[in-house]
Amino acid sequence: MQSFYLSMKQIRHVFLFIGLLIGFFSCKQEKENSDLFFEKIRTNKKNIEIFMRAMPKGGDLHHHFAGSIYPETILKWAIKDNLYLDLSNYTINHEKPKQNFIELKNITSRPDYESLKNKILQWWSVRDYTPDFYPSHSLFFETFTKFIQIVPKNHPEGLLEIKNRAKLENVSYIETMFVPIQSLIQTDYLSSFNQKLRQDALTQNKDIILQDLEMMYQDFIKNGAENEAVEYNKKIIEDNHYKYQIDDSNFSLRYQNYVIRTNPPVDVFESLVLGFMSAEKSSLVVGVNIVAPEDNEVAMNDYWLHMIMFEFCHKKFPNVKYALHAGELTHNLALPEQLSDHIKMALEIAGANRIGHGVDIASETNAPKLLNFMKEQHIPIEINLTSNEFILNVKNENHPIELYFNNKIPIVISTDDAGILRTDLTTQFVELAWRYPHFKYSDIKQFIYNSLEYCFIEEPTLKKRLIQDLNQRFTIFEENIKKDFQ
Ligand SMILES: [Zn+2]
Repeated sequence: MQSFYLSMKQIRHVFLFIGLLIGFFSCKQEKENSDLFFEKIRTNKKNIEIFMRAMPKGGDLHHHFAGSIYPETILKWAIKDNLYLDLSNYTINHEKPKQNFIELKNITSRPDYESLKNKILQWWSVRDYTPDFYPSHSLFFETFTKFIQIVPKNHPEGLLEIKNRAKLENVSYIETMFVPIQSLIQTDYLSSFNQKLRQDALTQNKDIILQDLEMMYQDFIKNGAENEAVEYNKKIIEDNHYKYQIDDSNFSLRYQNYVIRTNPPVDVFESLVLGFMSAEKSSLVVGVNIVAPEDNEVAMNDYWLHMIMFEFCHKKFPNVKYALHAGELTHNLALPEQLSDHIKMALEIAGANRIGHGVDIASETNAPKLLNFMKEQHIPIEINLTSNEFILNVKNENHPIELYFNNKIPIVISTDDAGILRTDLTTQFVELAWRYPHFKYSDIKQFIYNSLEYCFIEEPTLKKRLIQDLNQRFTIFEENIKKDFQ
C-alpha cells in the first residue's frame, strides 16, 4: 500500500508539473500574441491612440495638482471670484491693479472675449505655442505664478476635475503633489541661519549643518509644528477628500506634500519638516517631494543643502517616502559640472525612493554605477515625455528612457502637468509607443504595473485591490481591443 500511495503522489506531481508547464506556455503564448497584435496596429499613430485611450493605465505618479488643471477651468474660477487680470503680464490679482487691467466678471460680455481668452490661455498653457512667442522653459514655470493664488480656494473642484478626467482615460490612481504647507510658526528669528547654512554648505560642513537643523527642528516642535501638521491634514486634505468622495470603487487618489527649492533654506526646511510630519500622521498623505526649476540659481546653489535636509528628515521619519525631481537639466540650462551629480546626490545623500525626470543621467559622473544602484535598489524613474519635450527640448533619441530600460530600471510613465502642457496620460503612452518601437506591448504593460507596484500607498489592502482591479481591466481590455481592430 505504501509504495502504491507514493506512486499516486508521484503521479499527482507529474500532473501538477505538466499543468504548470501548460500554464507557463499558454501565458507566454498569450503574451507573444498580444505583442504581435500590437505590432500590427502600431504602424498608424491614430490606431495607437485608440488603443492607448482604452488601455488601463494604472497610476499617474508624477502629477502636479495645480499644473494638471486645465487653464480654462482656472479662468472660470477667476471670473466666478470676480478677480482682476493684469494685462501687462496676464496675472490674476485679488487687488485692482493701477492700470492696464480688466475686471474678470465682465469679460464674457466683451466683444473681444474669445480673442482675449485665447491670449490668456496662450500665457497659461502651451496653446498655439511657437518658439518665437516666449522661451518654453520660462513660459512653463512662470505660468504657475500667474494663477497659483486662486487654486487653494477651489481645491474640491480641481480634485474632481482631475479625478473625472482620469476615469475617462482608464486611470485608476493618482498620486498628486498637492500644496506646500504654509506654516504659521514664526521663523524670523531664525533668518540668520539662511546665511549660516549656506556658508557651511559651501565647505560641505555636514556635522555643523546637522546640528543647526536639529536645533531648528526642536524649535519647530516647541512652537507647535505637530499640531500644525495635524490641522493641515484635517482641514486641507481629509475634509475635502472625504466630503467630495474623491475615492470610489474605480478610483483612488493620494497626496504628496512638497517644498519649493527656490525658497530660503530656513523656509525650505520648515516646510519639509511639516511635510514629513503630515505624511507620517495621515495615510492619505503618502509622500514628500521638492519642486520648482532645478536650474534656478538658488535651487542650484542650495541643492546639496536640500539633500542633507531630506537625509535629516528621513532619520526623524523613516517610514515617510519621497520622490525627488532630479536631473531635470540639460547643457542648455546648466554647466557641465552641475549636470554631474544631482541624481547621485538624490540617491546617495537624500535616499530618494523614486527619481522624477532624471533626464541628465548620461551626463552624471559614473552613470553606469548610478544606473546599477537604481536597478539593485528597485528605484523607479518617473518619465514625463511631453514635459521634457516642451520644457527641456529633449525627445526621441536624446531622451534617456531607453538607457533606463536597457539597464533594467523600473519605468513609470506620468504626465507632470497635464493642464499647462495640454496633454493627458493617454498621449504619454501614444508618444512612448510611437517614438520607441523597441518597446513591446508587454514592456508597456509592465510600466503600467510598475505604477502601482512603486506607488507610495500605505494601505496594503488598497494597493492589493488596485492591482487586482488592474488585472481585471486588462482582461477586459485585451478581449475587447482585438475585436475593435478586426
Ligand atoms: Zn514635476
